[in-house]
Parts: sequence; structure tokens; C-alpha cells
Amino acid sequence: MITAHRWRSAILSLLTALVVTVGCGNAFAADERVMTEIQQLASEDGLEVRFKLTGKVDVRTFQLKNPDRIAIDFDNTVPAIEPGSPPENDLVESTRHGLVAADRYRVIFRLKAPASARVEHGSDDGEETVALSIAPVDGAAQNSNAAPQPVAVATSDNSPSVGGAENVKPLLIVIDPGHGGDDNGAVSKSGTHEKDINLENARVLQDVLEDYPNVEVKLTRHGDRFISLDDRAALARRLGADLFLSIHADSIRYKTLRGATVYTLSDEASDELSRQIAASENAADRFAPEGWEANEPEVFDILLDLTRRETVSFSEHFAAALVSDLSRRKIELIKNPKRSAGFRVLKAPDVPSVLIEMGFLSNEEDEKLLKDESWRRQFASAVASAVVGFFRGGKGEELTNRD
Ligand SMILES: [Zn+2]
Repeated sequence: MITAHRWRSAILSLLTALVVTVGCGNAFAADERVMTEIQQLASEDGLEVRFKLTGKVDVRTFQLKNPDRIAIDFDNTVPAIEPGSPPENDLVESTRHGLVAADRYRVIFRLKAPASARVEHGSDDGEETVALSIAPVDGAAQNSNAAPQPVAVATSDNSPSVGGAENVKPLLIVIDPGHGGDDNGAVSKSGTHEKDINLENARVLQDVLEDYPNVEVKLTRHGDRFISLDDRAALARRLGADLFLSIHADSIRYKTLRGATVYTLSDEASDELSRQIAASENAADRFAPEGWEANEPEVFDILLDLTRRETVSFSEHFAAALVSDLSRRKIELIKNPKRSAGFRVLKAPDVPSVLIEMGFLSNEEDEKLLKDESWRRQFASAVASAVVGFFRGGKGEELTNRD
């Protein structure tokens, strides 16, 4: 439920936080364009990028925060080339690219400092050109506008194979041990609390992940305390996480059902079981103390559909990779282990987010495993390998065999 107050705050933050520059361009419903060339040239104080395309396209640039990035979207375009690395320059650290929809191509420039972007259309030798100038933000001009808030609006970059030597920024994973405080989560017949299982497994996963070089892990909670679903997602956004993993071990009526499930966000649940699980997870906020209110007005429910779609598609790809790694490493999975539903905790529009139900506390065998130290390591190794392998392309494998 979004109250009127929340809507107002949400719209206000959206207006003040979004720094969206809409580039010019006419609408073209015609054929797909091909990006044939991307030239990156150091300019006096920044970077000049020249794109060549087989025809006119609509172009949009976005300013992104945490970390500072500039993104440019080309509608109705597919790439025939790689952008490569930017030359030595004062502003742009690295360049990435990828399709963010079947017909939308995005190039993202990671910045060393906030910058502004200007787009000019032209033509050259029968081909369309788009010139993007990335220059430092003029302090005075910047201050005269509404000050941008440190709210990220887009995406983790859409290329899972990033990483390697040129990527100095650590991979940041936020692990969210579900429930806590008054909210016990599921409680097994023998009295095991889900909140404890989640925290213990999250810690083991943190341990295993942090054994990888250049991987950082933050937990949404360290102790037994209540955190709202929105605050969990908000933390991942504030930190600019590459991935948000919510860890659960719920309970259902069907005692024989067991095994792990990997959930992503969707408006419509993929099936009735997923709908029930999401409904029970979303009810966690009923444990919020009296007078409690989210300390960050939520823009989750109205934020750019565009960003959300891209994040969801990234999450989907990761979820598929995770399911296949879990299965390869002999972690018991339920039938159709990759499912989706409207989990509130997965609604950060700009952080790829996945919820893992490790197993069911309503099943005795699962409960035993969830408390077993060697299963925990095995499970954590499988998840960590999937995470690192997904973001760094295959480098996960060798490390997780270490023990
Ligand atoms: Zn749960």
C-alpha cells in the first residue's frame, strides 16, 4: 500500500533526484539501425565520443549516480562493434555496452567525477553520426539547478562478463538475511526460527564470497533485529550494490515439498506457490514497531519502467545461472526451481535482485540440512561460484574447489 504521503514524497524525490537529459531526435518506426563505429577521443577536459549508425535513431542520455555514470541509449539499434576502452582522459574511467531490450542499445561511461553530457546529431558519408561530449560539471551552473540527490537511477551494466584486470572496482554483493527481531519468519515444528537460519547461512556465504579477490560483501543485518523490506532494498541501492541476494527458508502447508527455489521479481506470480510465498514474505512489515516509517521515501513503485525492465532481465539471467550451478553442485531443488512473484524486497529498480529460498523449514530433511555446517558450506560455495562466475565470466570455478 502506498499512502498519499508516500506518493507525494516519491514524486518529489523523483523530480529532484532524476537528472535526465533528453537528447533530440525524431521518432523512427522504421528498420533497425546498426552501430558501425564508436570512436572515443580525449578532449581538453573530458571525452568526445563519436557514434556512427546506418540511419537516424532516437537517442537519450542519462546521468547516473553511485557510482557516477553517463549512459546513452539508442533506440531501435543493434551493435556491430565493441566500444573498447576509453583513451587516457580526465573524466571517463571505463566504457561498457549492451542491449537493454531487444532493440535498445546502451553505452555506459563510468566517471571519475560528476560530468555533463551533450549530444549532437550529424551525418558523415551517408551514415548518421551522434557526437557525445562528456565534460566536467560547471559548479556554478550545477548549483543553480535543483541539486541532484545521490540516488541511483539506472542499472548495473548489462554485460555480465565485466571484471578482470581492468575492473578495479570490487564486486559488491549485499546479502539480506530475511526477517529478524519480532519477525521470526517461519518456525519449524521443532522450534527453529527462520530468521536465525537465514543469518547463519548468510554469514557462511559472506565468508565464502570474501575468499574471492576483489569481492566485498555487506549484510543488511548482523544481529537479530527488525528491518523493513524497503530499507533492505534501499541499503543495496545506497551502496550501489552489483547484486542483492535475499536469503530465506520458509515454511508451507505441504510438508513433503522440499528443496531450494530462486525467485526474481515479477508483477504476476509464475504460479500459485510463488504467489503464496511472496504474500507471506511481503507480510513481514507487519512487525514494524509502532510509529515506524521508512527513512527513505520510496520511489520503488514508480521509478522508471525502463530501468526496472533492464534490472529484471539482468536478475533473470543471473537466476538462471544460479539455478544451474546449484543443480550441478547437487543442491536439492524444487520442481521448476526458477520462479517469480511480486516480492517487495526485490523492488530496487536499479540493483539486480534475487531471493533464494534455501529450503523449507516445514520439511524435516530440509531443516536438518539448513542447520548442517557442511551443507551450509556446500550451498554457499555453489552460490558464490555462480555469483563470481556470472560477473567475472568463469573465474568462479577454480576458487570454490579450494576446499
Ligand atoms: Zn522468509
